[in-house]
Amino acid sequence: MLQQLSLIGKDERGGITRLAASDADKEARDLVIQWMKEEALIIHIDRIGNIIAVRDGIENSKPVMTGSHIDTVVSGGMYDGCYGVLAGLEVIKTLNEFNIKTRYPIALAVFTNEEGIRYTPDMMGSLVFSGGLKAEKAMKSIGVDGSILENELKRIGYMGDLQVGALIPSSYVELHIEQGPILEIKGLNIGVVENLQGISWKEIILTGESNHAGTTPLIYRKDAGLAAAKIINYLSDLCSSVGGSQVATCGKVIFEPNVINVVPGKVKMTIDLRNSSEEGLKHAENLLHSFLEQLAEYESIDIKINQLVRLQPVQFDGTMTQIIERVNNRLGLTYLKMTSGAGHDAQMLARICPTAMIFVPSKGGISHNPNEYTSTQDIENGANVLLNTILELSNKI
Ligand SMILES: [Zn+2]
Repeated sequence: MLQQLSLIGKDERGGITRLAASDADKEARDLVIQWMKEEALIIHIDRIGNIIAVRDGIENSKPVMTGSHIDTVVSGGMYDGCYGVLAGLEVIKTLNEFNIKTRYPIALAVFTNEEGIRYTPDMMGSLVFSGGLKAEKAMKSIGVDGSILENELKRIGYMGDLQVGALIPSSYVELHIEQGPILEIKGLNIGVVENLQGISWKEIILTGESNHAGTTPLIYRKDAGLAAAKIINYLSDLCSSVGGSQVATCGKVIFEPNVINVVPGKVKMTIDLRNSSEEGLKHAENLLHSFLEQLAEYESIDIKINQLVRLQPVQFDGTMTQIIERVNNRLGLTYLKMTSGAGHDAQMLARICPTAMIFVPSKGGISHNPNEYTSTQDIENGANVLLNTILELSNKI
């Protein structure tokens, strides 16, 4: 199933480009729904295009939910998101095959626009599903191509009528590739995800004065480019000062006028700060702000900070992670309790029900890349952990 799904949206580089509510997204959704129907699942589509497929339980109660997303970044890999959805389907296939009934229903979710490449914010479908953003507001989102999500969802036939809150899960467990190198380096089978890093995205605008690179003595310069370099250089010191899980990245710098013989008059740059502790993240933000204040004075430039995104760390449910640990022990799999460095739909679901995540190793820690790879054995291990976790959650008296 993973291989078949990966053919949809395949680009020249061998990667997959399947942006939210695009033609490729529609084709992938249609295929997954066809597979869901083969398993006799009842299909619901909600306002924002989330697909929720339900397998009945003995009791008509809140379902145990699993799922993920099938949209991708530009030229992404075949496992990110798709693995969680298709492993959920594989779990249901297995239950059907062995004619196993569960006390509670099981729901399999495919969330809209997790990657946030075409429309912002990312994890949009799960955020709307969890009541954190109104569907009407999310649907007004304008894409990087100028499209409006609402029109695109209608066009591909995925603006459904299930209302937000009509289907609340009793618990949510998401299986995902790690997208980092830790499990592979430590030689472990499974990651039991206890929490998810908080994120602070800032845009920094430095305004100095563009001037002649030959005639302007250093002491008379208001060099926004030099200041930007000092900020980037400071980030590793910032991480050492805060300690713990703190990481900081400058991923984007735009110089103006960006020519060889002019002192840069303006720089727009971004900073991404992450920490699994809210206290640590706040500390990092404070340190960065005071550094920028001092720098502005020293370099005689103006520094403006725009907060683009601020998400608090998410703590997953302790009982859920204990169940996953128990399942690993029973199956004889080695595991590590860990923090997720990436955002996932599960962090949104944690707002409305007990939630946890299961990770499997990513070869070389690579993802969002055509070379993303997880071995067949790891794929199977993760699916077995998901199967046993769902069995425990859905049978529970
Ligand atoms: Zn993902």
